[in-house]
Amino acid sequence: MQTQPGEIFFVVNPNAGNSLHPRTLTAICHAACEQSGRSAQVVATRSPEEATDTARQAHESGAAAIFGCGGDGTLSAILQGLPLGSPTALGAVPLGTANVWAYETGLPLTPMAAISAQLAALDGLQGAPLWIDTGKVWSTGADGSLSSQRFLLMASWGLDAAAVSGIVGSERRSRIKRMLGEPAYFFSAVQEAIGRKAWPVAVSIDGAPYFEAEIALLTVGNTRMLGTWLEVNPQATVVDGELDLLMVEGAPWRALALSPLARHSWLPNGPGVTNLRFRRIEVAYLREPLPNQIDGDPGPPSAYAIDIEPGALRVLCPNPTAPVLGG
Ligand SMILES: [Mg+2]
Repeated sequence: MQTQPGEIFFVVNPNAGNSLHPRTLTAICHAACEQSGRSAQVVATRSPEEATDTARQAHESGAAAIFGCGGDGTLSAILQGLPLGSPTALGAVPLGTANVWAYETGLPLTPMAAISAQLAALDGLQGAPLWIDTGKVWSTGADGSLSSQRFLLMASWGLDAAAVSGIVGSERRSRIKRMLGEPAYFFSAVQEAIGRKAWPVAVSIDGAPYFEAEIALLTVGNTRMLGTWLEVNPQATVVDGELDLLMVEGAPWRALALSPLARHSWLPNGPGVTNLRFRRIEVAYLREPLPNQIDGDPGPPSAYAIDIEPGALRVLCPNPTAPVLGG
């Protein structure tokens, strides 16, 4: 592939929830770039690994920005290929099932408008590029080796991760997701909660001694929302150098029972509910490995710690007043 510095890359996930015909999308990408005097490379990818490789290539060729055309999973795959502090900015063309990043940062939801607004941010004409924090999940391999995966939005342990795994692991639930979109996660969570006990864990925050808890849910948010329905970390911003924790103790059904409060951003500290802000968390499993999810996809079963990476990613923000951006 011939590339030039300053180009705009587009990674297209043809399997995204709301994908356009590839030819239409390619034409839109080129037209939006032409309008702002830039050239575009549009790459259809068949797997997250290909999206990661394309992001690495975009960075190495000095691309000004790389857009994920798909859902939050596509953005996550691109993030894995961008080195810490890469000048290549991440952009989004929201074509997935939930599009949480686009929702939280107030991006236009149609492809042409989304690309044009973010290119205007790149040129400083409307908003600006912004350096934001990312999270990093650590896990161990079977041979004891360490590995890590970065996240843009959120990682979590417990019920919502079980709901995500339940959809990925069940053809019937995947079909429901294709039909219903985001509500399918709620139905999957109800099925996972039935008859399930709390998960016993030991938790250490910012190097403090471990404490034991029986949890239904433990979310670590760089951003605020779990999907576009539940604001589980309503104070989180991506520019404060810290991550936001919500821990719900008790049986998984308790997290379901509290979810209407999170729908309205009101889940205060109280019996069995902990909100706090931190830079590193470690979680030890006291009985069985907990399901975990990273940016909406199942994570490795041995995930044991999460760190913040302050100011590690450049993103395009045409709407800098969005609360999650610190506006
Ligand atoms: Mg933060």
